[in-house]
Amino acid sequence: MTINKIISSVFRKEVLAIEAYVVADAKGLIKLDAMENPYGWPEHIKNNWLEALRDCQLNRYPDPDAKELSKIIKELNQLSDQFGVLLGNGSDEIIQLLLMALPQEAYVLAPAPGFVMYKQLSDSLGLNYLGIPLLANNFDLDLPAMLSAIEAYQPSVIFLAYPNNPTGNLFAKSDVLEIIKRAKGLVVIDEAYAPFAGASFINELEHYGNMLVMRTVSKLGLAGLRLGYIMGNALIIEQLNKIRLPYNINSLSQISAIFALTHKKLFEEQTQNICDERASVYKQLNELKGIVAYPSAANFILFKTPKETATEIFLSIKRQGILIKNMSGQRGLLDDCLRVTIGKPEENKAFMSALKLSLEDLAL
Ligand SMILES: *Cc1c(COP(=O)(O)O)cnc(C)c1O
Repeated sequence: MTINKIISSVFRKEVLAIEAYVVADAKGLIKLDAMENPYGWPEHIKNNWLEALRDCQLNRYPDPDAKELSKIIKELNQLSDQFGVLLGNGSDEIIQLLLMALPQEAYVLAPAPGFVMYKQLSDSLGLNYLGIPLLANNFDLDLPAMLSAIEAYQPSVIFLAYPNNPTGNLFAKSDVLEIIKRAKGLVVIDEAYAPFAGASFINELEHYGNMLVMRTVSKLGLAGLRLGYIMGNALIIEQLNKIRLPYNINSLSQISAIFALTHKKLFEEQTQNICDERASVYKQLNELKGIVAYPSAANFILFKTPKETATEIFLSIKRQGILIKNMSGQRGLLDDCLRVTIGKPEENKAFMSALKLSLEDLAL
């Protein structure tokens, strides 16, 4: 048998049909593409962290329930005992785990454009994914369209990123609550950007049993750790916990996360700096002729470039040593759109200069 025959007979058709999620190579570039926190830690904090890692027993399996870390996460989020928390190797793993628990015929619903992993993971599992377009003028939810899709397809899970990636906006709270009330399945409020948003649904958990709140430490400043968590009704969390791999949070991540989350003040200063820079970059972008930047409650900004120039501008900025994200290939509402992550002041400055130069080169 040829290798292609073997492959097509062994793997599910859904796996054969999808493409791998490609991460751009950022070597040698200023990295403003992946919503990372640009700041490191001061030397004395690094030393304390290394000290905390010193006694890590790498010969032993990790605590399968990450009890100490879970306890800290529950305390930080002021979760009472009626709620459960499940930790994942990044919130990506939690999305996968949740979808793996659904029946094959299940529908999964999210607004479009939305976070790409919802669709990628649904597709890989052969579930039915529905992307409902956001409103074109302000990227808010199209509530009637969402509600009629809920009525027609009875989705098992609805994902709402709050704020939304890649658009950056917070959906209207009343719309989100209406969706939670009308849904017969689960509604996951994905609060990956909570540190920058100043808004959250966590206080609604006690009112809606079908709602879950998912968070990650990635955008906060710990993307390398791979740690996400989901909070909600303890009985729902218990079901998800059955299909979680027993040691999914490794010992180094557990110790490092415990260390980092008990240094909250450091991250509060960093996120405040990022929010201040976001305001400045937003203003500068909108002052440029031909550019429209959209309001953001996250650590990135989506902006529209002159018609059919997005890829050219993206490549020009890259040639000037800065990597952002080209969203225009996703078409639809993202036509002509690029997304920039907020970096350090000097990185943002370099980005703005590169963008200006690329616009001048277009000579529109
Ligand atoms: C980045 C992102 C995630 C993934 O976070 P990880 O914890 O790094 O896997 C989830 N949801 C949204 C909306 C994101 O933008």
